[in-house]
Amino acid sequence: EPRQDFIFRSKLPDIFIPNHLPLTDYVFQRFSGNGDGDSTATCLIDSATGRIFTYADVQINSQRVAVSIHRLGIRQRDTVMLLLPNSPEFAFSFLAVAYLGAVTTTANPLYTQAEIARQANASNAKMIITKQCYVDKLINFQNDGVLIVCVDDENGTVALADGCVSFTELTQADETELPKPEISPDDTVAIPYSSGTTGLPKGVMITHKSLVTSIAQKVEGENPNLNFTGDDVIICFLPMFHTYAFNALILSAMRTGAAVLIVPRFELNLVMELIQRYKVTVVPVAPPVVLAELIQRYKVTVGPVAPPGGFVFVKSQETERYDLSSVRMMISGAATLRKELEEAVLLKFPNAIFGQGYGMTESATVAKSLSFAKNPFKTKSGACGTVIRNADMKVVDTITGVSLPRNKAGEICIRGDQLMKGYLNDPEATATTIDKDGWLHTGDIGYVDDDDEIFIVDRLKELIKFKGYQVAPAELEALLISHPCIEDAAVVAMKDEVAGEVPVAFVVSSEGSQLTEDDVTSYICKQVVHYKRVKMVFFTDSIPKAPSGKILRKDLRARLANGLMNL
Ligand code: AMP
Repeated sequence: EPRQDFIFRSKLPDIFIPNHLPLTDYVFQRFSGNGDGDSTATCLIDSATGRIFTYADVQINSQRVAVSIHRLGIRQRDTVMLLLPNSPEFAFSFLAVAYLGAVTTTANPLYTQAEIARQANASNAKMIITKQCYVDKLINFQNDGVLIVCVDDENGTVALADGCVSFTELTQADETELPKPEISPDDTVAIPYSSGTTGLPKGVMITHKSLVTSIAQKVEGENPNLNFTGDDVIICFLPMFHTYAFNALILSAMRTGAAVLIVPRFELNLVMELIQRYKVTVVPVAPPVVLAELIQRYKVTVGPVAPPGGFVFVKSQETERYDLSSVRMMISGAATLRKELEEAVLLKFPNAIFGQGYGMTESATVAKSLSFAKNPFKTKSGACGTVIRNADMKVVDTITGVSLPRNKAGEICIRGDQLMKGYLNDPEATATTIDKDGWLHTGDIGYVDDDDEIFIVDRLKELIKFKGYQVAPAELEALLISHPCIEDAAVVAMKDEVAGEVPVAFVVSSEGSQLTEDDVTSYICKQVVHYKRVKMVFFTDSIPKAPSGKILRKDLRARLANGLMNL
């Protein structure tokens, strides 16, 4: 007789989610029919230039860009790649593509030429929207007929490379000519890349339905302390090409009428100054980013216990100069936030509470801090929230696959309309990630406690996270074995105080070769973005493998832990 699964659900009641709507209709629903949206309210502020865009501006600009790129040949289901730093143009482009029923693939603009090429080819991008400073990396695409659109420099100068289209020109079209394609909820709207639980980075097909569901799960219904409101000013320095920023911050804010202050990069003093100047109310962070900045800038050591008086971040003369009292909420995601850090940071923000989130590109947000009137925002130390509403969660034994009760650790699985549709052109990887009953296997090990709080304790998957950025071991291994003097290689995570984790390589060099650690690191260095660089190389006689050929990463991690690297 089949036994019952242990299924965990939110304490909040399910809500009605209008996920039959296309993304742009949902996000701007307050401005249609007899909605109560104030289209003169501020939607986006560009910290780099001081430009302010109201909700009307954002919709009109996005629609004009949609009309223009349609004229340039972008049709429903075509893919447009965004290779942009955080900027309003990023948002206009994403929304424009969504209006057309087309698809955006987002990548880190700092990627190398080869990394960009792999993603642009795999996703079949017809157009790339970028900045002048990155055009050099795209020359080959132009030859292949991919259209390159260039956003003007911050100071407004346009020095357009040959054959590129100016973004400013795209915003001159007549928005009333916006095409109205028939968009189905299961149409793909975005393809961010993620390596998921194993292998190379893959295109994650996010549909209109997944995004609408995920936004609603976070910002709608009763959960007052957590919701963004029309009065919020949310600072966004987390990278917009990652779904954490684009889904959970930008689009969620737009649905609620909040303003987003867009910051191209994290720099402590600048961020403090902006918080004060714009009276920022919500500060989303990724713990490794904040930590790294603290350690590098102030040479703080972060031990298991906070030093008396907290961190220099909290005490520093510099930060005292700023009025940070406007901040009502900090949100942390992408990695576990240590309690000491949370407490230290909060000292500096007198009116703020801390919220946690846990999610994954493929699954959208899985868990979030919960708030009740009498118990505002309590998340235990080390917990990352409770399961999102309108979703099922279970924890399964990693060997038997059987679901486990509370307080037992296993692989976290999540089910609901917010999940990706699957990996692009990869039914096999899709089938191993989302099973036939609709459960997405996260590759994270965790448990649920007696109060429904979720604790992530380990990672089953091979993914390495450097300051929250994804590093896929398989990608580095493929590069390593392409070296003529390398027979075999394996890449695993090593713990690191600043970055959280860094990639290190075990390498079997070919017989008679004089390969050095430097040779290996510089070979990789040229081919990848900075956070994927191999930090250390250990030469070894063989890579431990299962009979199936699968690398036994656990064995390698154990060797790292025990200092037995060069066996
Ligand atoms: P990404 O797809 O780049 O967002 O990476 C998702 C992965 O980051 C998750 O599967 C976790 O391994 C990790 N992660 C995200 N949020 C948290 C969190 N709050 N605590 C611990 N790990 C996290």
